[in-house]
Amino acid sequence: MRYISSRGRAPAIDFSDVLLGGLAPDGGLYLPESWPDLPGDLSGSYAELASAVMAPFVAPVIDQDEFSVMVDESYATFSHADVCPLVELESGHYLLELFHGPTLAFKDIALQLVGRLFDHELRRRDERVTIVGATSGDTGSAAMEAVRDSDRVDMVILFPRGRTSEVQRRQMTTLGSPTVHAVAIDGTFDDCQDLVKAMFADEEFRARCHLSAVNSINWARVMAQVVYYVWAVRQLDRLKVPTTFCVPTGNFGNVFAGHVARRMGLRVERFIVASNTNDILTRLLETADMVAEEVVPTLSPSMDIQISSNLERLLFELLDGNGPATAELIGRFRERGRAGLTPAQHERLVAEFGGERLTDAETLEVMAEVHASTGLVIDPHTAVGVGAARRRRRFDETVVTLSTAHPAKFPAAVEQAIGVHPELPVHLADLFDRDEVVTSLPNDLATVEDFVDSVRRG
Ligand SMILES: *Cc1c(COP(=O)(O)O)cnc(C)c1O
Repeated sequence: MRYISSRGRAPAIDFSDVLLGGLAPDGGLYLPESWPDLPGDLSGSYAELASAVMAPFVAPVIDQDEFSVMVDESYATFSHADVCPLVELESGHYLLELFHGPTLAFKDIALQLVGRLFDHELRRRDERVTIVGATSGDTGSAAMEAVRDSDRVDMVILFPRGRTSEVQRRQMTTLGSPTVHAVAIDGTFDDCQDLVKAMFADEEFRARCHLSAVNSINWARVMAQVVYYVWAVRQLDRLKVPTTFCVPTGNFGNVFAGHVARRMGLRVERFIVASNTNDILTRLLETADMVAEEVVPTLSPSMDIQISSNLERLLFELLDGNGPATAELIGRFRERGRAGLTPAQHERLVAEFGGERLTDAETLEVMAEVHASTGLVIDPHTAVGVGAARRRRRFDETVVTLSTAHPAKFPAAVEQAIGVHPELPVHLADLFDRDEVVTSLPNDLATVEDFVDSVRRG
C-alpha cells in the first residue's frame, strides 16, 4: 500500500513514512492510494479482527506476525474482555463503549497501537524521536500512556496550568515514567499550542531534537479506529443489513474512520455527526457552507473545535480524489474563514452524513434521562451522541452511538446532571493517592526549548 497527499503535490510514500511523517510536504493529509476490501473472515477476538482489518494498510513494510503481536499487546491493556463492548441502551439503539483503555477515553484505542508502531519502526531505523504536544486534556494522557515504556521515544506534553480537570492532570502527572514529561504552562491551551508550533518552526531545534508528533491527523490513528465499526456490526450480527452510527465529533477523525470502514465494504446506512454548540459540521451539512466561528467552551471539551482537521480527508473523497481542487477549497477556507460546496457535492455529503447539535443544557438533560430510565451513567460527550441519535433516528433504524469517554473522566458534569459522583474504575482507583511529577514553566519559548533539550535522550 502506498499513501498519497490530499493536496496532490507530494510523492506517494509507504506506511512507515506516513506513520512518522505527519503532514505531507505540500501541507496535505495522507490517504491510502486505494481502499482495500474488508477481510473475508471477520470472526475471532477484537485483536484478531483488528490485525486482519488493518493488514493491507501496513503491508508490505511491517511484517504481519510482528504486527499481530503489537495489536495483541495494545488491546491487552484494556480492562474489558471485549475491548469495545456493545451495550443496548434502548430498543434498536446501542452504545459502543470505547473507553475501557488505560486513560478512559477512546483515544487509547488508536494511541496504544501507534505508540508500539513508533517504537517498532524507530528500532528498525535505529533512530530516536522527541514527541512534543499540547493538550487540553484527553489526548495528552493517552499519548503519554502509549509511549511510557518506549526506549526510542521521549515525550513532552504541555498543558495549561489550572485549566484541565484534576483527573486529567493526575493522569498526566502520575505515570512514574522517566521518559514522559508533563509540563504545566502558565497560560491557555492556545498558548501551549503556539509553543508547540514555534518549536516545530525552529528548524535548528527541530532537527537537533528529532521532533515528532502524534496528532489527530496521523493516518495510523484513523486506521486503528476503522476496526471498532466492523466489530460493532459483527457483534450485532448485521453484516448484511445496514447500520447507522452516531459519532460525537471534534476533529472528525472518528467519523472519517467510519467512512473508511464503509469504503472497505462495511454495510453502513449513514453517519450522524453529533456536535456541541461548536457546530461548524452541523452547519456545513445544513447549508453547504463551511463558516468558522469562535470556539465556545462547553461541558464536552474534547469536541470544542471549530476547524476539524480530518475534514480535509473527506473533502478529498468528495472531490473524487482531486488534490489541487481540495487544496483550493481548503485554501479559500483558511484565508476567508468560509468556503462553500457545490450543490452536487453537498448532495453527496448529506447522502452519507447527517448533523445534529446539542447545547450544554440539552446534554445534561440526556445524561439525567438516561440515568433515570436505564441506570447507566454516561459522560457528556457520549450524551451529545445519544441526544443526536435519538433526534435523528428514523423509525426502525438500528443505531450505534459511540461512547467516547468514561463518566469518571468528567465528574463535574456528571454530578451536575445526576447528583452522583462517578467512581473511577479499579485500575485508577488510587489516582488521587499517587505522587504527582510535574514541571511548571512560564509561557516562554526559550525556556520550554531548554527543558525539552535537557530531558531528551535522542
Ligand atoms: C477526542 C474526543 C472526541 C472527538 O473525536 P474526533 O476524532 O476529534 O472527532 C470525542 N469525545 C472524546 C471523549 C474525545 O476525547
